Amino acid sequence: MKDQALREKTIEISRLTLSRGLTIGTSGNVSARCEDGVSFLITPSGMDYDAIVPDDIVEVDIDTGGRTGRRVPSIETGLHRKIYMARPDVGAIVHVHPPLATGLAVARRPLPVIADMCALAFGGQVEVAEYGTSGSTELADNVVRALGSRNAVLMANHGSIGVGNDLDQALFIGDLLEKMCLTYYFATIAGGAVAITDEAINILKSGVGRTYGQPGEG
Ligand SMILES: [Zn+2]
Repeated sequence: MKDQALREKTIEISRLTLSRGLTIGTSGNVSARCEDGVSFLITPSGMDYDAIVPDDIVEVDIDTGGRTGRRVPSIETGLHRKIYMARPDVGAIVHVHPPLATGLAVARRPLPVIADMCALAFGGQVEVAEYGTSGSTELADNVVRALGSRNAVLMANHGSIGVGNDLDQALFIGDLLEKMCLTYYFATIAGGAVAITDEAINILKSGVGRTYGQPGEG
C-alpha cells in the first residue's frame, strides 16, 4: 500500500489526541502530506480511532480534491486541503476540540504571546478564526485566513488546529496550545496575563540568543 508508514503514523497520532484528552469519541481529525507532495492522507469520518487500520486512511489529491480509498474522509477534508494549498511548508495538521482552547475560542479571544514558547512554537499570537459551520467552505476560508503564516489557530465555537513539518510537530503544537490556554486562564485569575513585547518576539523568532538544547541539535 502507498505511504504505509505514514498511514500508520497518522493513526498513531490520532489515537494520541484521544489519550491526551485533546478530543473525545470519533471527533477531531489528523492529516499528513504525502512524500510526493501531490496528495495528503486523512483520517476517515466518524470511525473509532482504535478500530482504524491503514487501509481506512483516505488519500486526497491537493490540486483536484480527488479521493482514493474505501472510506468517506473526515468532514473537514476541505479545510485540511486549503491549508496545504496555502502553506507549502505544512507537512501535517491536527484538529482537536480540547476544553481550554475551545473555551477561549467560544469567548472569541485570541491567545496572546504569554511565554517565549508561544513565539517560538506558534509564531505569534494565536488568532480566532471566524465562525463557520463544520465542513463548510466558509470555515475553511476563515481558518486559512486566521492561521496566516503561524502554526496554530483557534476556531470560534469549535476547537483548535496545530500544524507542523510533520505529525509529531503538529500534535506537539496542539498539545502546547491547550497547556498555554490553561496558563492563560491561571494568569487571568492571578491578576491578568501580560504578553511579552514585540521586540522580544522578534528576537526569539530570529533565533538571536537561542542557546537551548545541545550543539548541532537545533
Ligand atoms: Zn472539529
